[in-house]
Amino acid sequence: MKLSKRLSVIEPSMTLKVSAKAAELKAKGIDVVSFGAGEPDFDTPTHIKEAAKKALDNGATKYTQVEGTPQLRKAVAAWFAKAHGFAVAPNEVIVSVGAKQGIFNAFHAILDEGDEVILPAPYWVSYSEITKLAGAKPVPVWCRPEDGFNVDPKEVEKAITPRTKLILIVSPSNPTGAVFDEKAVRALAALAVKHNLWLLTDDIYRSLCYGDAKVTQPATFGPEVRERTIIVDGVSKAFAMTGWRIGFTLAPPAVIEAMGTLQGQSTTNAAAVSQAAALAAIEGPTDEVERMRQEFDKRRQYMVKTLRAMPGVTCVEPMGAFYAFPDVSAFNGRKTPSGRVIDGDASLCEYLITDAQVAAVPGSAFCAPGYMRLSYATSQANIDKGLGRIAEALKNLK
Ligand code: PMP
Ligand code: GLU
Repeated sequence: MKLSKRLSVIEPSMTLKVSAKAAELKAKGIDVVSFGAGEPDFDTPTHIKEAAKKALDNGATKYTQVEGTPQLRKAVAAWFAKAHGFAVAPNEVIVSVGAKQGIFNAFHAILDEGDEVILPAPYWVSYSEITKLAGAKPVPVWCRPEDGFNVDPKEVEKAITPRTKLILIVSPSNPTGAVFDEKAVRALAALAVKHNLWLLTDDIYRSLCYGDAKVTQPATFGPEVRERTIIVDGVSKAFAMTGWRIGFTLAPPAVIEAMGTLQGQSTTNAAAVSQAAALAAIEGPTDEVERMRQEFDKRRQYMVKTLRAMPGVTCVEPMGAFYAFPDVSAFNGRKTPSGRVIDGDASLCEYLITDAQVAAVPGSAFCAPGYMRLSYATSQANIDKGLGRIAEALKNLK
């Protein structure tokens, strides 16, 4: 029995795979510290869960409109408007099953066979695979660690061809934590206007910025940019709601309509009860969001300091999201105590999980060989324990 050719071009999600592996070992009673998961360790705030319970009792058990309940779409439009300072109509937004489905459907709504998508690299595992599934070609453009992984618009311009359709911006970035500076985002927006390209900004980590870092949303530059910008956002990371599976997309009505058609022929609506919870999240108090952000910030500072103290490890300071992305290429070619040779980031991560019971995601999964991604969305006690194990394991490499 043969599987489809279409699926043969994509890889399974490495971030999900590493998290699953850590969970599997834990279930066997092995004391694994997981830096794999890209999800807050905090529980969803109580008032959101209470709203969901109430909604269930009030009939949130049925299909809703494909694009989301009218109440939620209206609230999402107001939420985007407040965040970005421009008016947003409900027919410019759609509610999907997580930001991931928003990205998936938006890519499928605008990409044709042979189109090219510029992905500032290192990039999150799913962009390239969704691009390929849509018949298009991912074009990575390397962001340099010496620039704090900020995107270089000159490099992006060099990568533009007549086939280029879309430039992706994710800021704060997964996996680097970089927050692209305003100058760079302005230059990317100018390129999009000049070459008649779409911009898709993945704003899922928008509210998780640290220090002086500030997210620049290109759609705020003016109508000529806004009309070509698709904004994907959601509640998963900021409100600790990964399992509820709700994401929002803001785009021109024609794109939203196309995404609705695709959704209507694939998954229908996001779960009714989750939509009610998301409504409570975006209309309710945000002090919990701020409390979690401050806690992430403390862990971030600790993790970067501790990683930098490990001989052979260098680490750019992440300014947003909840990932550290150290360069561990100095260990290539070294030998483990059992005599295996480390021949890259995947083999280093394999060594860490088998010999030190620490899960990390290899940089290669993000188009960045020589790096690894550690999520600090886990307790300070776990971070202490896990980094201690990594330090010891790296010391044992000869
Ligand atoms: N974009 C980025 C950059 C992410 O890290 C994630 C992680 N899940 C997503 C999108 C998807 O978010 P969601 O869980 O809302 O689908
Ligand atoms: N986005 C998170 C991560 O990068 C969750 C897993 C996924 O959807 O990729 O780990």
